[in-house]
Amino acid sequence: MENCLFCKIVRKEIPSRTVFEDDAVLAFYDVNPQAPVHILVIPKTHRGGFLEMKEKEDPSLEGYLMSVIRKIAREKGLDQKGFRLVINQGSDGGQTVFHLHYHLLGGRAMAWPPG
Ligand code: AMP
Ligand code: ZN
Repeated sequence: MENCLFCKIVRKEIPSRTVFEDDAVLAFYDVNPQAPVHILVIPKTHRGGFLEMKEKEDPSLEGYLMSVIRKIAREKGLDQKGFRLVINQGSDGGQTVFHLHYHLLGGRAMAWPPG
């Protein structure tokens, strides 16, 4: 998508601090971290959000995203004390960038319920 911020990051038109990258997935540090570890994990193919994933084509991509997140969580040591994995969907969810992303947050105790 031409004007999507995260598509621009995928195309390297906007710099980011890459954590992991392959043909299908990019993970990079959030520019405004909400925890000592705050990593965004995205599919490289544009999807507007969680609800915009395609029922027939995308389940394997979703499974792969989860396996990448698990690998990153272990690599960053978040398997020791845990982490939070968040999808913000739509206005009530607080979504501001309309390209599917998972927030991987760790390195501190998280409040519950979230604000
Ligand atoms: P959300 O509110 O769930 O849509 O999350 C969007 C996230 O993208 C926020 O946590 C922002 O801090 C983050 N963000 C916005 N621009 C950038 C950028 N250029 N590089 C890294 N993260 C960004
Ligand atoms: Zn996009």
